[in-house]
Amino acid sequence: MNGDGRFDLIVVGAGMAGVAAANKSAAAGWKTAIVDDLPFGGTCALRGCDPKKILRRAAEVVESARLMSGKGIAPGSLSVDWGALMRHKHGFTDPAPHDVEQSLKRNGVTTTHGTTQFAAPDAVAIDGKAVTARHVLIATGARPRTLAFPGSHHVIDSTAFMELEQLPGRLLFVGGGFISFEFAHLAARSGSSPLIVDHGTQPLKAFDPDLVNLLLERGAADGIRVRTATSISSIEPSSRGYRVQLDHAGQREFIEVARCGSGIRPRPAQSHCGGCRVHRAGRDGHATPAEHEQSRGLRRGRRRRYRGHAADSHRGRRREGRRIEHDQVGDGHARLHGYSHRRVHPARTRPSGHAGE
Ligand SMILES: Cc1cc2nc3c(=O)[nH]c(=O)nc-3n(C[C@H](O)[C@H](O)[C@H](O)COP(=O)(O)OP(=O)(O)OC[C@H]3O[C@@H](n4cnc5c(N)ncnc54)[C@H](O)[C@@H]3O)c2cc1C
Repeated sequence: MNGDGRFDLIVVGAGMAGVAAANKSAAAGWKTAIVDDLPFGGTCALRGCDPKKILRRAAEVVESARLMSGKGIAPGSLSVDWGALMRHKHGFTDPAPHDVEQSLKRNGVTTTHGTTQFAAPDAVAIDGKAVTARHVLIATGARPRTLAFPGSHHVIDSTAFMELEQLPGRLLFVGGGFISFEFAHLAARSGSSPLIVDHGTQPLKAFDPDLVNLLLERGAADGIRVRTATSISSIEPSSRGYRVQLDHAGQREFIEVARCGSGIRPRPAQSHCGGCRVHRAGRDGHATPAEHEQSRGLRRGRRRRYRGHAADSHRGRRREGRRIEHDQVGDGHARLHGYSHRRVHPARTRPSGHAGE
């Protein structure tokens, strides 16, 4: 960005929400800029939905073969090659930042890179350089949850999990959220032994309990262990990986695992700025002033949207334009709706062989 006058809108964060807003703003004739401190594309394209679906597809294929074992498929004839799968994933994620940025430029959006903070009510400082705008949209997404127990720095986040060159044999997932469950199902079908530890009495507590229970039963049959009402008190390195202290109903227990991972939480807004015309990327990716984070919108809306979006999701699956899956196509709005459905529907959380595919 070359200090060329005032923008109508600066979008902070080039994920799905920010990119969609920037494109619409530029299309409406506003002078628009977008900035990110990481490669363009955001969580979904680079560190979330899309790479996750590529990994998950391999697990689905293996599970389908397992379900057909002895019925025309030789038992044990398929397994996940984790290293090759990772290379395959990079084939999708590596070109994404360049593609996203070029697309924005073609649409008339000024793109720039750097960490952004407010400098004044009508200005942000991008790596220290002030740029003025009538409006600022904060679309900064989420970042890994901060864990407070001793040794929590040994826990890797979802981004690091999807970069593992080898899949550890015994995995512990901290927290019973949707990312833990998706990764646990992937890991179980890739030959690992996952354990999910949640301090609440019911994991996936934002989702329909009946469907969650079905998922828990199915996971148990596949070797996914879930410990509820259990907290992690400490993690320390050991000769076999990590020694984890669990506390349940006043009882202390130590277990050994090879790796520990956790999910994400909303990323806080940038420095507060009295008088700024600040907008946040709100529910379903629309830019609405002072709205809640997308992730909250996802959870709150899930029951209302459940039935209606089953159809959307299946329609999307027929549009496998780039060989990933449904919400690869469309904007952030479509992704969020499709996702709220898939997270609770057994056919989507089960391996594909169960979904009548
Ligand atoms: C492992 C995983 C799997 C997921 N799977 C799905 C799924 O299957 N379906 C689905 O719908 N959703 C999924 N999600 C959630 C989805 O990725 C997010 O809801 C979505 O990416 C949010 O988009 P966003 O544009 O709001 O934020 P993001 O995509 O996170 O983009 C925010 C951007 O802001 C940038 N930024 C932050 N602070 C600053 C700053 N100060 N200056 C400059 N730039 C900054 C960040 O670098 C980032 O690129 C998944 C998430 C994860 C982690």
